[in-house]
Amino acid sequence: GEIYLNGAYLAPDQAMVSVLDRGFLFGDGVYEVIPAYGGRPLRAREHIERLANSLRGIGMQEPLSLAEWSAIFDRLLAPAPETDQALYLQVTRGVAPTRDHRYPAHATPTVMAMAKPMQPRDRGIAERGVSAVIRDDIRWHRCDIKTTALVAAVMLRQAAAEAGAEEAILVRDGLALEGSTSNLFVVSGGQLSTPAKGPLLLPGITRDLVLELAAQAGIPYREDAIPVETLQSADEVWITSSTREVMPVTRLDGEPVGSGRPGPVWQQIDAHYQRFKADARGA
Ligand code: PLP
Repeated sequence: GEIYLNGAYLAPDQAMVSVLDRGFLFGDGVYEVIPAYGGRPLRAREHIERLANSLRGIGMQEPLSLAEWSAIFDRLLAPAPETDQALYLQVTRGVAPTRDHRYPAHATPTVMAMAKPMQPRDRGIAERGVSAVIRDDIRWHRCDIKTTALVAAVMLRQAAAEAGAEEAILVRDGLALEGSTSNLFVVSGGQLSTPAKGPLLLPGITRDLVLELAAQAGIPYREDAIPVETLQSADEVWITSSTREVMPVTRLDGEPVGSGRPGPVWQQIDAHYQRFKADARGA
């Protein structure tokens, strides 16, 4: 489909950015991924607010309003209204004449957005779950900023893939924080918990939605630190993200989690999540 770039809608092979773009030179930019069901972006306002926070974090202003973004989303989603799609948005600090780390005095941000089909969940995941590995968190200390500077996450996700796992769950100072591309939930001793928000993890939109659904379902939860030992002995472990929804982790570093099958609390939350999605789709 078309790619939105700085006000124009272009064929992918026409959507070009300068090699002097600071996104290319420094990873000096931020991004969002927004799921869209039946042509309707899910929680667009929350995603655009998080984008604004990421931009503020790197000293940039919002290039577009929510209404302007929404018009772009409508156009990008229009060719395949029945297909579930993921919107990808990226804003970099733009092109500067010389390679200088300091923010340029005058730069026009590079603003890009595109849509791609989202694969429906593999049936086996609800039956068998996925495996994850535990790794040291080698990322920086501002993981609340959704930056395109992702090489640490790239290395961690690759390490997980090479270990035959879907995700790497990241530990810093003995605490499990999130996955390389997802947030983390555990059920331990009958208690659902997820780490509290802070600079060391991304405030996931799916995470917040799952907490809302848990509250609606009368499932109590805590936003609290998860020691790695709690993760390793948990009855249930889930990872969440906009494209993966709520995914049960049934093997951790090769060991079964709980019964080794997706757990009862996950089944309850997933049913609520699927219903929420169907409502969002307008079904
Ligand atoms: N944590 C990290 C590091 C991520 O990259 C992502 C998203 O891909 C998430 C958490 C989940 O965030 P969201 O639910 O907003 O997609």
